[in-house]
Amino acid sequence: MAKSIAIDGPAGAGKSTIAKMVAKELGFIYVDTGAMYRAMALYMINNGIKAEESDKISATCQTADITIKYEDGVQVVYLNGENVNGLIRTEAVGNMASASSVNGDVRKKLVELQQKLAETTDVVMDGRDIGTVVLPGADLKVFLTASSRVRAKRRYKELTEKGVACDIETIEKDIIDRDYRDSHRENSPLKQAEDAILVDSSYMTIEEVAGKIIELYRAK
Ligand code: C5P
Repeated sequence: MAKSIAIDGPAGAGKSTIAKMVAKELGFIYVDTGAMYRAMALYMINNGIKAEESDKISATCQTADITIKYEDGVQVVYLNGENVNGLIRTEAVGNMASASSVNGDVRKKLVELQQKLAETTDVVMDGRDIGTVVLPGADLKVFLTASSRVRAKRRYKELTEKGVACDIETIEKDIIDRDYRDSHRENSPLKQAEDAILVDSSYMTIEEVAGKIIELYRAK
């Protein structure tokens, strides 16, 4: 049976960076499920659909063909045949993803895709509901968190390094709003699975966090 590590937690806790390092060390494939929700959100934006139009989101998601491929070890997300990796990392897409991912039809479609991937491949999968819904039988479940201030500072640094003008207060407010939406939605809310191990990355380096997760996995 394929092996799996589930890493859940709020935006900006360092999930993707850490999951990538862990996957590389263990020879697993890293699956970024947030990128799938982002691709779906991009599709909604391209179709002129607003976050509150849930009926339209349910109908429109049926025609979104989202596939994942690995090119030189990097996950590439295709939306109806187009590589959208370069288009899904904006704040607008992130906010739409947070809103459209509350939709049960969107979730059903993407969860099926994620489960299919994990059936045949050893994966480190990160998201919000991996340990609770997508891979309840994962070999290791980690709930990775950090304070909203620390997460806002990381995001601020990332954006300013890319030359994007931004303001830390707005970023922190967006993070708090998104956490609230992700944790209070009816469908698959962000919550720690009972058997997940809590790791707070606020005062740890990424290497320390990755090292800890690898140690936890090997100790299993
Ligand atoms: O992790 P990332 O910020 O890329 O995710 C974008 C949005 O997709 C999140 O705000 C969250 O609402 C949603 N998401 C989700 N379930 C997942 C992964 C992401 O609902 N497994």
